[in-house]
Amino acid sequence: MREETTDTTSIRSVAVIGSGLAGLTAAILLGESGHRVQVFEKSRGPGGRLSSKRVADGSVDIGAQYFTSRNPGFTRFLDTWAGRGTYKLWDAKLGYQPESGGWLSFPEEHRFVGAPRMTAITRALSNHVTLEAGVRIEKLSRASGQWQLTDTEGKEYQGFDQVVLTAPPAQAQELLANSGLGSLAERLAGHVASILPCWALAARFRQPVDFAFDGVRPNSRVLFWVANNSSKPDREDDGQWWVLHATPGWTHEHIDDAPDAVARALLAEFRQLTGHEESADEWVPHRWLYARSDSDDAPGYLLDKDAGIGLAGDWLAGGRVEGAWESASGLVQEMGRS
Ligand code: FAD
Repeated sequence: MREETTDTTSIRSVAVIGSGLAGLTAAILLGESGHRVQVFEKSRGPGGRLSSKRVADGSVDIGAQYFTSRNPGFTRFLDTWAGRGTYKLWDAKLGYQPESGGWLSFPEEHRFVGAPRMTAITRALSNHVTLEAGVRIEKLSRASGQWQLTDTEGKEYQGFDQVVLTAPPAQAQELLANSGLGSLAERLAGHVASILPCWALAARFRQPVDFAFDGVRPNSRVLFWVANNSSKPDREDDGQWWVLHATPGWTHEHIDDAPDAVARALLAEFRQLTGHEESADEWVPHRWLYARSDSDDAPGYLLDKDAGIGLAGDWLAGGRVEGAWESASGLVQEMGRS
């Protein structure tokens, strides 16, 4: 863990905006080095796109589906700060449908999920930080070398030497532009254009779906990803919960459709894919305006040392859960090299 942190004494107080994996990672590593850190999150709780929706009999992962841990530093970080029990191997049969037809398996790799839900990881991480939830930061201003944050209610938070911004690029750009940081905002233009939206649906079936895979990428104009959430470890569902993600193109075309209409369209495509005739007896839709990045520009993080602003997030490092951690830990390391 030590090698990912900094013991510089030049930074004393840091505001971290966003409590997804990137924000929590930055906050924990900075805190470990002795800095005073306060995390601001616009939603009611931490997690960001590592997201689970509560349903009658448990919860369903509606955002990130699984993650890899190719960097041993990521595993060490999770074991140390979230705890080994908060995530488990998902020993799933995963496949995809090439254009030529038939089905192929995903390459062999260890894939992990939060247990008993994705948010178990970020909940545990958030125990190590000071978190102000339900606070949307609208503006940053600087006076006498210190940052002041203003939220959408007009409340001010003062006295920060540095700000770490971990919002998705469109939200980060808006905040920077509101704060008179035009050139940094402009730097994000390509990233904003590369963020893909996703309509997601969790649906419960009383009868098990007879399908050869636990998760697939079908060759479909409508569905991008389909997974049996109940096949993940430690889920004790009453029935079988499936998660359906629409393709970016289909989502874009239907971005303002009513959630029920979206649910019906995704379920019709699911029925065609699996041949499962039973109707879902409960479903929960969710619209992600900023789901995944397909940008090739992956600098890892952005840091303006003179302004005292760093940016981290998956979109700066390959667009996945592990990328979010790599981005934030790289930023904290660089902040220590001032
Ligand atoms: P986020 O989790 O987006 O965190 C940013 C946080 O900032 C949010 O909590 C947000 O509320 C907060 N915020 C924004 N603006 C403000 C503000 N002004 N003030 C205060 N707070 C603010 N990755 C994988 O590795 N595997 C997958 O299978 C996978 N599937 C996915 C499927 C879907 C549908 C989605 C949406 C994502 C998926 N991902 C997957 C991507 C993965 O979820 C992300 O890479 C990762 O969770 C991003 O973490 P982050 O901390 O960078 O950003």
